Amino acid sequence: MYHAKAYSAASADSPLASAKIPRRDTMPTDVAIEILYCGICHSDLHTVRNEWASVMPTVYPCVPGHEIVGRVASVGPAVTRFKQGDLVGVGCLVDSDHSCPNCKDGLEQLCPNQTLTFNSPDKHMGGVTYGGYSESIVVDEHFVLRVPENLELAGVAPLLCAGITTYSPMRRWGNLEGKKVGIAGLGGLGHMGVKFARAFGAQVVVFTTSPRKKADALLLGAHEVVVSTDADEMARHAGTFHFILDTIAADHDVNAYIGMLGRDGNLTLVGAPEKPFPVSAFALLFGRRSLSGSIIGGIAETQEMLDFCGEHGITADVEVIPMQKVNEAYERLLKSDVKYRFSIDMASLKSE
Ligand code: NAP
Ligand code: ZN
Repeated sequence: MYHAKAYSAASADSPLASAKIPRRDTMPTDVAIEILYCGICHSDLHTVRNEWASVMPTVYPCVPGHEIVGRVASVGPAVTRFKQGDLVGVGCLVDSDHSCPNCKDGLEQLCPNQTLTFNSPDKHMGGVTYGGYSESIVVDEHFVLRVPENLELAGVAPLLCAGITTYSPMRRWGNLEGKKVGIAGLGGLGHMGVKFARAFGAQVVVFTTSPRKKADALLLGAHEVVVSTDADEMARHAGTFHFILDTIAADHDVNAYIGMLGRDGNLTLVGAPEKPFPVSAFALLFGRRSLSGSIIGGIAETQEMLDFCGEHGITADVEVIPMQKVNEAYERLLKSDVKYRFSIDMASLKSE
């Protein structure tokens, strides 16, 4: 065991602060990674503030972060796919049982015995896992991804969660070429959704509560932007969508978006607001529409997504911040004031 510099929260209402955390020594199939950047996902904030207490209560101290890129510092003797110096990524998962039907299908994100990168029981160290707001991490090689060398690294980090979470459900919904696709919420996930939908050849419409984001949405690749608080604008699109990805992080009227779907259209929820919301049966019945959920993606699909990004030059639009600004960044995230993901430069931890 060794100790690594990190930022952790001591309780739901305390700020993140400098800390030393234990990390395991490298085991035979482990990859030890020097973390270069870690994105700030809204899930970090939900967890740090214990907003998901009814589903996955937070254990403190909590070190969030599951959008990790870095360089391999060393590898265990049985590691076959990585060597010192390789550019790698780690997303939301660091372990699974490898034996359940979901794991066998490459769907580790649905394994009932998965270990999340943070706030999951840590079977090696006891306590819970600690995430990527840290100078280093040790991860089994199965959960380590190869990062294309041609991409700007700070913008790669968010691909490990925001990227795969939007890529996976759109791929699952089939060929979107020429189809009308809506992205609800233009935050970290939403802006990646726009980039992928555009790359898949869809006709992309962004729903936003922030009129100031209109010009950006078009630059990111949207063909059209609808301000969701404008009833007339919304009414013009009723019943016309093939697929909508709902990335909204807060309480909202999902029925308004279901009503945008055409026949057999699907709305997939990836946003995870704190409170349950009512769903209108009639909004689903008429039009034979469906409502689904999706969570990140499997390891093989995450690699596929990273390779796709390498080929198409896709990264997140990031605002790079030092770790010391993380609490300020959380407050700005709550105000939708980020273009469009914060990426923490881990070099800033050296001064701690
Ligand atoms: P984010 O950057 O904060 O973006 C969320 C966006 O939601 C905001 O930018 C805003 O977009 C919109 N929004 C916020 N409050 C709203 C409200 N009251 N009504 C309507 N729209 C509102 O968050 P994120 O990191 O993209 O994460 C989004 C959600 O996905 C979070 O709940 C997160 O926990 C969840 N998540 C799920 C998965 C998964 O695997 N399913 C993975 C990662 C994250 P506009 O300004 O454009 O309206
Ligand atoms: Zn995330």
